Amino acid sequence: MAIHLLCAPPVSSAGMTCAGRSVCYSSTAMNYRISSRAASLSPSLTLAIDSKAKQMKAEGQDVVGFGAGEPDFDTPQHIKDAAIKALNEGFTKYTPASGIPELRQAIADKFKRENGLAYKPSQIIVSCGGKHSCFNVILATCQEGDEVIIPAPYWLSYPEMVKLASATPVIVQTTDQTEFKITPAALRKAITPRTRLFVLNSPSNPTGSVYTPEEIKALGDVCVEKGVLIMSDEIYEHLLYDGAVHKSVASFSPAHLEHTIVVHGFAKAWSMTGWRLGFCAAPEPIAKAIDAIQSHSTSNPTSFAQKGAVAALKGPQDHLKTWLAEFDKRRSFAWQKLNAIPGLSCVNAKGAFYLFPNISKTGLKSTPFCARLLETEKVAAVPGVAFGADDYLRISYATSMANLQKGLERIEKFVGSLG
Ligand code: PLP
Repeated sequence: MAIHLLCAPPVSSAGMTCAGRSVCYSSTAMNYRISSRAASLSPSLTLAIDSKAKQMKAEGQDVVGFGAGEPDFDTPQHIKDAAIKALNEGFTKYTPASGIPELRQAIADKFKRENGLAYKPSQIIVSCGGKHSCFNVILATCQEGDEVIIPAPYWLSYPEMVKLASATPVIVQTTDQTEFKITPAALRKAITPRTRLFVLNSPSNPTGSVYTPEEIKALGDVCVEKGVLIMSDEIYEHLLYDGAVHKSVASFSPAHLEHTIVVHGFAKAWSMTGWRLGFCAAPEPIAKAIDAIQSHSTSNPTSFAQKGAVAALKGPQDHLKTWLAEFDKRRSFAWQKLNAIPGLSCVNAKGAFYLFPNISKTGLKSTPFCARLLETEKVAAVPGVAFGADDYLRISYATSMANLQKGLERIEKFVGSLG
């Protein structure tokens, strides 16, 4: 192995000399052992598919991308303006690690107003994305020997985060027969004396399922009874269809509140994926632990982005109505089209911007299905195996109607060709 300093091109291997000038030295004796913690991780399949599709597009191929985990709308202008103003006014320095007081207060107000949850600003931690918030929560609450119950299909980062915390993911499989919802009985059965945390994600990525308030309460009741913490990932809270209602598990009683850490973020409902801003609300001791973790790892989320987030929460929300109407139109179209393809079936999603069709009748598992679909028809979808469900694939309808039409026609052609 060789380490290259100031040498170009910066690629070489042991025993080779670098062309031209260089200050490079061979270090064949170096042992770049990767920690078992890092080595245990699976790379993100969603990102892999996305980059393959982008590469094909860059080569001029006519690829239809159904892999996006982000809205295809721009961040509302007033949010951008607030961040630009902050930058221009020199709001460019460190902030408190857990976020600026103004934003933590605005988040506490949001929880009170929209969810009926009474949090003090000291219980709110702002982080560098909802993903970071989830990781902080798991790191602050779980350790070796602990089990974390995750219903599958799951958002693909949860099990990897649990492994990073040296704890053990316990996957409870669900299917389209139950709209991908875990039942209280299945949850109860999975709980052992080692269970520390239950991960609840409604509305769900990747299935778009939304638990009813009654279903959420029943799951919360089991956790309260058994003394299990709940990480409730509510990042898709505002993206609901067909009259579905979101109710936070923390809101049913003081006991539910005590057992719950709510995770949320600005990525989905305000289309701020690149801003990297998420937050959680937790019982005080857990919030303190997360504050400590964050103060020694990332420090504060980006200062001026936080000012944009204040505007996101305090400013007008009319963009949502327009986005939801558009998403809803696409959802109905895609759901009908998928169900009209012989060999596919799809339960209708009530939230988020994903559909999760069943491909088991095609005779292919999700990875060969998606690889061949991309290769032959140039449609990028994410294999369900990435989410712990190999008989499905994830279609994101965060793309234009024209793209949906074209991509779904190609899927129909592809499935037809499987005979
Ligand atoms: N939770 C779920 C269920 C998600 O789907 C995502 C993003 O795709 C996140 C959390 C994290 O979002 P971000 O880190 O972009 O705020």
